[in-house]
Amino acid sequence: MFFPTIYSADERHIVKDKNTCACGTRYNVFAMLTRSDLRKIRFKHYKEVTCPKCKSSIIDKG
Ligand SMILES: [Zn+2]
Repeated sequence: MFFPTIYSADERHIVKDKNTCACGTRYNVFAMLTRSDLRKIRFKHYKEVTCPKCKSSIIDKG
């Protein structure tokens, strides 16, 4: 299964919404989401997610 992910703070997180990751980390430090921010979002297999909190959030959902 593939998820939108973003690389932030040396970890790959799952994107929850336009500001935060599944673990609660804010990745969007700007007031507006720019095109370059959107380009940083990559669809990846959950195995490529390195943030343990983000990973557990998808495992919890089954
Ligand atoms: Zn995370």
